[in-house]
Amino acid sequence: DTLSLTGKELAAAINADTKERTAALAAGMHAPRLALIVANDDPASAWYVNSLRKAAERLGIACERIDLGADATAEQIREELTARSADTSYDAIMLQTPLPAGVSLNDVSSAISADKDVDGVSPLSLGLLAAGLDGFVPATSEAVVELLKHHEIPLRGKLVAVVGRSNIVGKPLAQLLLAEDATVTVCHSRTADLAAVTAAADVVVAAAGRAGLVTGKHVREGAVVIDVGTNEAPDGGIVGDVDAESVRGKAAGLSPVPGGVGPVTTALLMRHVVAAAEKLRG
Ligand code: NAD
Repeated sequence: DTLSLTGKELAAAINADTKERTAALAAGMHAPRLALIVANDDPASAWYVNSLRKAAERLGIACERIDLGADATAEQIREELTARSADTSYDAIMLQTPLPAGVSLNDVSSAISADKDVDGVSPLSLGLLAAGLDGFVPATSEAVVELLKHHEIPLRGKLVAVVGRSNIVGKPLAQLLLAEDATVTVCHSRTADLAAVTAAADVVVAAAGRAGLVTGKHVREGAVVIDVGTNEAPDGGIVGDVDAESVRGKAAGLSPVPGGVGPVTTALLMRHVVAAAEKLRG
């Protein structure tokens, strides 16, 4: 039988710790404060921002949405990020994607100070990770590794196939898995034979943003599959990148969507906010 590798218990444990640390910070000065910078009118992003605000509220973290509009320029976004980085009343900054047409994350992310870059998107944060130095790590990538550890899936010496090479999920995840002594293959849209690579792996992580991409033929008997994808389902809900039906029964474990990587990602982001506040306030 395929185990469901849920993230709810792990998220609850992380959140319990965060709540205590938040209360201590609030008693000392004021609640940790997160700025969510939005420059789009994308409904999926609005949904995500809303869920982050609710999560923050439950944990006693102040969370402010700063809306720059879907036609903000790179310069305007950089100015906002620079101002919030210098503003000591904020502990943490998150820039939402998608960005306006013609603006890439690389155009603006270096304006987020590394101390407040709780989703680890700036070139400095990503460079620290690649070098094996301390910094904020992209929360989704960290969530995948924490979920695997929570369910006691061994990584040392194991073959892990990561499907997706984005700067905020696939690439940083590969670095984190290397740090766990896994042997890592990163697949992407130009990979010639995806199924051949993933079917050789002990652990497959799907982070492509393509519903149904990973099927039974992509997974060997007894492998573990982590589904990072969040794709809009025809019924309005979300589905992952894994065709759960065809993988179930073959894989030893599969993380559900929703309820797998997602809640752990949010919990880790909030923990990063508290860590940023603790550090900034000495
Ligand atoms: P992205 O679009 O930036 O990157 C997608 C990657 O997948 C690319 O590197 C591309 O080469 C690869 N890819 C696309 N089609 C492929 C194919 N047919 N075969 C192999 N590789 C293919 O996306 P992203 O920002 O990295 O996000 C990936 C997914 O993870 C999305 O569904 C996103 O919504 C989801 N996500 C989930 C969380 C969470 O907390 N659960 C957080 C962030 C992102």
